[in-house]
Parts: sequence; C-alpha cells; structure tokens
Amino acid sequence: MKVLNRPNLKLILIPLLAASLTYLQSCKDEDGDINLFSVSDDLAFGAQTAEQIDNDSSFSIIDSASNVEAYAYIYAMRDKILNTQLLTYTDQFPWRIRLVNDEVLNAFCTPGGYIYVYTGLIKFLEYESELAGVMGHEMAHADKRHSTDALSRQYGVSLMLDIIFGKDKGQLARIASGLKDLQYSRKNEAEADEYSVIWLNATDWDAKGAAGFFQKLIDQGQSGGTPQFLSTHPDPGNRVQAITDKWIELGSKPGVQNQAEYTSFKSILP
Ligand SMILES: [Zn+2]
Repeated sequence: MKVLNRPNLKLILIPLLAASLTYLQSCKDEDGDINLFSVSDDLAFGAQTAEQIDNDSSFSIIDSASNVEAYAYIYAMRDKILNTQLLTYTDQFPWRIRLVNDEVLNAFCTPGGYIYVYTGLIKFLEYESELAGVMGHEMAHADKRHSTDALSRQYGVSLMLDIIFGKDKGQLARIASGLKDLQYSRKNEAEADEYSVIWLNATDWDAKGAAGFFQKLIDQGQSGGTPQFLSTHPDPGNRVQAITDKWIELGSKPGVQNQAEYTSFKSILP
C-alpha cells in the first residue's frame, strides 16, 4: 500500500544510491515497509525541524529554565518509558521534550525523537498513566520510524531530501509547522497504540493509559473531533478495544494511575 503511494520511487532512489550507500541499509524496516531515510537522516531532520519549531512564535513553548518542576515531572515520565529498554533507539535519539502552552489537545514527536506536549492535552487528561499512554504512542511513531514515512507521503521524498541536504530552508519552516498535524497511516496508528501498551506494561503504570484518553473523547462526545495527531481512523471506540485486547493478551497486569501526582503536575503548569 505505502509503496504504491510513492510515485517515481526508483527515479529518485537510483541516483541517490550512487551518492549514499546508507540508503541501501535503510530501505526496509523490521515490518518490511520501505523507508528511504537512514536513522541518521531521522536525527538530522528531527534536529532541524525542532530548531525551527522552537524559534517559531506560533508555538508557545514553555521555558524550561523557569518551569523546572514541570519539566522534571514530564522527563521522569519519559525516563520510565525509556528505562524499559524496549525501545529500539533508547540511546540514539535525544527524546527531548518541550511543553507547549496551548489549549489544543495535541502532542507530537518529530523524526529522531523531539517530543512536544500541549498543556491542553495534559489538562484534559485525569491520570498520569493516560498521559504516559499518549507519550508512549508518540514516541513509538519516532522509534518505529513512522514519521519520515508519513512526511514522505505528505510532502514527497525529494522535498524531504532537499531539506536534509540543506537545499531548501524555506520549505523547512512549512514542514516543521505541519508536523503538529501530520497524518499517519491506519497501520502506523495501530502500531503506535500497540507499542504504547507493550512499553507501559513493562512499568508500574496502567498499560492501557492511551485507551483512557480515547474513552474520554468518546464520553465527552468529541469522537467526531478527534485531534488530528491521533487521526480519525480507526475510530476511538475501536482503538479502546484494540488497546484493551493487547493489555489482556499481555496478562491483564493491574497498574497505577497516579492521579494525585498528576493533579499536582497540572496545577504547576502556566
Ligand atoms: Zn499517532
């Protein structure tokens, strides 16, 4: 499916292969999907887009120097996920986090692992395990290298390569700002949900945290307005079911939700 979505693949790829053998090694990921980008491309592209976003005034980034406590909390959450040692790029990707002061229900992760979490999402959720579930989902998009794939489908491979090789700085701004609304395929969304459960299951958290988020959307009648970062397909009800099924498959381990800690975290946000 995805391969068919990439016209002129060979026309673009063949000259590049001559220039860079790294592309040969990066053509197929563990699921057999074609990925034209190497891991170092993901890192380079992530660093460039993150720098662009950080300097874009339409992203209201919360200053880490004057919000030490809030950042310490969310980095501790990230570390709990990384410490499972289940991610492929635990040590290779920076997994840097920026909090965005914006009421939109959103979170996203660039290629190469630069994570952005919106206060609107944090305040919408009730439990730490729910935010952990969403973070796990977003980190999975980077760790399973869905991001460059989705970007290639959305913007075209040649434009992506121009940016990586520094040829098109103007387009970088457009793509960086579009990352917050990046559309992933149904398969990649399902895989990100699945890894969120697998990773959280190796912590003391309730591993179905991400399902709590979808359930809240359904309960509040927002299923028609699912945030773009989670895409509109499959529908939230199906995703709650799939997440719960995965949790059962892994042994239905009960986990903590840390509501009190999470409420305190919300109270220190701007
Ligand atoms: Zn997603």
